[in-house]
Amino acid sequence: MNQAVAGAFETLCIHYGEDRRSDHGAVTPPIHQSSTFAYPDAESFSGRYAESPARYDYTRVANPTTDLLEKKIAMLERGESARAFGSGMAAISAAVLSCAGSGDHVICVETVYGPTRRLLDEYLPRLGIEATFVRGIDVADFGGAIRPNTKLIYVESPSSLFFELQDLAAVAQLARTRGIATICDNSNATPYFQNPLDAGIDLVVHTATKYIGGHSDLVAGVVIGSAERIARLSTREGELLGGISEPFTSWLMLRGLRTLAIRMERHQETAQAIARRLESEPRVARVYYPGLASHPQRTLAARQMRGHGGMLSFRLKDDGRRRAFALVDALQYFFIAVSWGGYESLAIPLEARDPESGEPCWIVRLSVGLENQVDLLRDLEHALNT
Ligand SMILES: *Cc1c(COP(=O)(O)O)cnc(C)c1O
Repeated sequence: MNQAVAGAFETLCIHYGEDRRSDHGAVTPPIHQSSTFAYPDAESFSGRYAESPARYDYTRVANPTTDLLEKKIAMLERGESARAFGSGMAAISAAVLSCAGSGDHVICVETVYGPTRRLLDEYLPRLGIEATFVRGIDVADFGGAIRPNTKLIYVESPSSLFFELQDLAAVAQLARTRGIATICDNSNATPYFQNPLDAGIDLVVHTATKYIGGHSDLVAGVVIGSAERIARLSTREGELLGGISEPFTSWLMLRGLRTLAIRMERHQETAQAIARRLESEPRVARVYYPGLASHPQRTLAARQMRGHGGMLSFRLKDDGRRRAFALVDALQYFFIAVSWGGYESLAIPLEARDPESGEPCWIVRLSVGLENQVDLLRDLEHALNT
């Protein structure tokens, strides 16, 4: 099969963009682990910028393995084009800088991923870019923060930690009418469960370190959007800041994508079972999982998402440090580690502020992996009882 263009998500993950005839029939594409590409003669070398389509020249600009990954992820996110980066933060910083410069203002959800918040709050003011943080569950939160120099609205839906949603279509519409760009971090839902570009968002960013990679063995990121926006971002923030995805890392992402659909289905199934079990547990005060019928934004979730991944958090009634630590320490199958979205289950205690009451509390955040559901439920049961 060659360059299959139609089919459902999991079929596209396997077949889209692959030219197996030119790779001796190899079902897995080769890794073009080369920094530079040779020309056949001096004439083609000297005319290299005039050629269309452009030849491969230098891997910081473009690489065939990374190109395949970018084509595939763009298709899955329903965008025209994509650019891969060496980490999620490299993708996010490039995307933000492609939309805002000195004198501009950015609006961002306050529950955004921590380092994204630090980029906007601590680093970008040095470049003359200011940010305002809003709760974001109501589109009016964004409207009220718009200034004449607002150039970007940055959302993350579902957000980290409490998994709150933003109404993507409403935010996109608000921004469009005022000439403001929009970026959505879609790492949690993945393109399997949500496509923000379809809602009118301009750029989607992912940390591919999490679900896209899926095996906790790579660090990478990706930005998806219109051909025009991505071409501009590639030649400026991509080539000049230089945070590229290595060919081997791009190949690992391609491998991760083959099983993304089946992994997300399993993450969802097990996380749902765990969330429901925790909700019925008298010692648990609150479960934060957008897939629960009790989630305050379930109507919005049903409108803009097709499902939910394996991330959830919960707050015990006894929500102090001691109980949260004891519970995490008693777990057998959940590693105590940062990151998420891999095959392995993780659990960490985190000090947070309840988004509704603002009270400080300790919560436990789980990344539900691909272990057997009964084993994980039994492990949690045991830990709750210790
Ligand atoms: C981890 C993470 C990132 C950053 O990705 P890196 O690959 O670690 O740079 C961005 N957004 C979210 C939601 C994340 O969890």
